[in-house]
Amino acid sequence: MKYISTRGQAPELSFEDAMLTGLARDGGLYVPAEVPTLNHADIAAMAGLPYEEIAFRVMRPFIGETFGDSEFGEIIEKSYAGFGHAARAPLKQMGPNHHLLELFHGPTLAFKDFAMQLIGQMFQVALKRRGDRVTIVGATSGDTGSAAIEAFKGLNAVDVFILFPNGRVSEVQRRQMTTPSESNVHAVAVEGSFDTCQGLLKDMFNDLEFRDGVRLAGVNSINWARVLAQVVYYFSAATSLGAPHRRISFTVPTGNFGDIFAGYIAKKMGLPIDRLVIATNHNDILDRAMRTGRYETGKVLPSISPSMDIQVSSNFERALFDAYDRDGAAVAQLMDELKSDGGFSISQGARETLAEHFDSGRCGEDETSAAIAQALAETGEVLCPHSAIGVSVANQNLGTSPMVTLATAHPAKFPDAVEKATGIRPALPARMADLFDRTERLTEVENDLARLQTLVKERIQA
Ligand SMILES: *Cc1c(COP(=O)(O)O)cnc(C)c1O
Repeated sequence: MKYISTRGQAPELSFEDAMLTGLARDGGLYVPAEVPTLNHADIAAMAGLPYEEIAFRVMRPFIGETFGDSEFGEIIEKSYAGFGHAARAPLKQMGPNHHLLELFHGPTLAFKDFAMQLIGQMFQVALKRRGDRVTIVGATSGDTGSAAIEAFKGLNAVDVFILFPNGRVSEVQRRQMTTPSESNVHAVAVEGSFDTCQGLLKDMFNDLEFRDGVRLAGVNSINWARVLAQVVYYFSAATSLGAPHRRISFTVPTGNFGDIFAGYIAKKMGLPIDRLVIATNHNDILDRAMRTGRYETGKVLPSISPSMDIQVSSNFERALFDAYDRDGAAVAQLMDELKSDGGFSISQGARETLAEHFDSGRCGEDETSAAIAQALAETGEVLCPHSAIGVSVANQNLGTSPMVTLATAHPAKFPDAVEKATGIRPALPARMADLFDRTERLTEVENDLARLQTLVKERIQA
């Protein structure tokens, strides 16, 4: 199994190297040279199996020689052992033909745990075998950083530094980053905004001497291994609802297009998915692109669904690559236009290909609050704002096939927005009820690259 870049100019890599590299050298994203398929009988046999077993069968064809079978089985077991639900990704019914896929039973209460837990275990095993060690630095507005710290804590082949904007993440998110006591994880509160953190991160990667010196690695959502981990729950949900004997649709609260792109991969593998519906908040670049054919960035507007507040949707490049018949030069040209002009027009042929798989809808701020209140009134379900956007857009796209909406975070992660919409302040699950009593540990830094680099070097030698 080989991986190629969406811009066609980077070397082909194995699964292991694509995972450890993240971004391709030509600026593109890695995708499998060919997506392996599962036949009708393979898929039918998944119905009712434990999540871990489905995970093995779905991901095995993608990892090539990187892990042996028993090794990979152990990695998967470890990854999901800390989840608070035996089904890992349970389904709940929202209406006659509408289901909610709860992806928030992991250690940090958001769907990012599914991929981050797995990638943590895979990094550890691969690096140990190489006798290698890396330093992971990430910038976060909340969910990614907490998931990364939780996933990599205590693993001795990695140090993790997470930069977050001081005072600008929710208290639950901050405590999830600052309360783990393992010495290889470092929560760094930066004076500034999320953009300040991302700028510092970029500068660290662009300083090649520093980059090579500390063996810098990234685990942001463009890492192929993260997409792969998310393919699994499309299979577990669809087979629970009657696939492959009937077609299933999905609605996905979308920011960087990683989660919904995993659904597209599931479809290419042979899972009979009817529609994949992109749901955005008022940062609606993807909904506009689908409706008008023009991908045009604007200013990021804050919202009550902050994990979807983006204006450049990185993983969309992977969908464009297929829509342009895997023409890397064409994709590279679009990305150059995006950089120079702030947008590009999607060709008619590519628009038609995208429309074969994807629908889209947007949900504004007031509609999101209304959707939280409505779900509570109709079903007793308390939704987080991101999941409510999914449910609201799904309700406008119901058809004959069962609809599954991905619930991407637990409501207790966004208690203020939920309380405002419903009057109810959602409580943390019992297993983390002591989060507010645990000791916090963080380092505060100014927006100063040199000081941050010194901090990283000192800590990894300690
Ligand atoms: C990251 C995130 C999203 C967006 O997922 P993408 O893969 O970036 O499209 C949606 N909801 C929540 C709660 C998230 O943390």
